[in-house]
Amino acid sequence: MCDHKYVHFESKKSQEYHVTTGMTEWTRIDYFFCEKCLDEKEKRKHETSRNKPEWF
Ligand SMILES: [Zn+2]
Repeated sequence: MCDHKYVHFESKKSQEYHVTTGMTEWTRIDYFFCEKCLDEKEKRKHETSRNKPEWF
């Protein structure tokens, strides 16, 4: 058993503008790994809006 201690190591951002709606699709994926057992996990954020979200 591991009491995971996750460390952030990478972020990937992408944005896609939709001409028909005038909206942008914002996606951000943060990658983490446990520094003890090296287990990996990712956290995904997604939003469709006109303006850039705070987390982007
Ligand atoms: Zn772990």
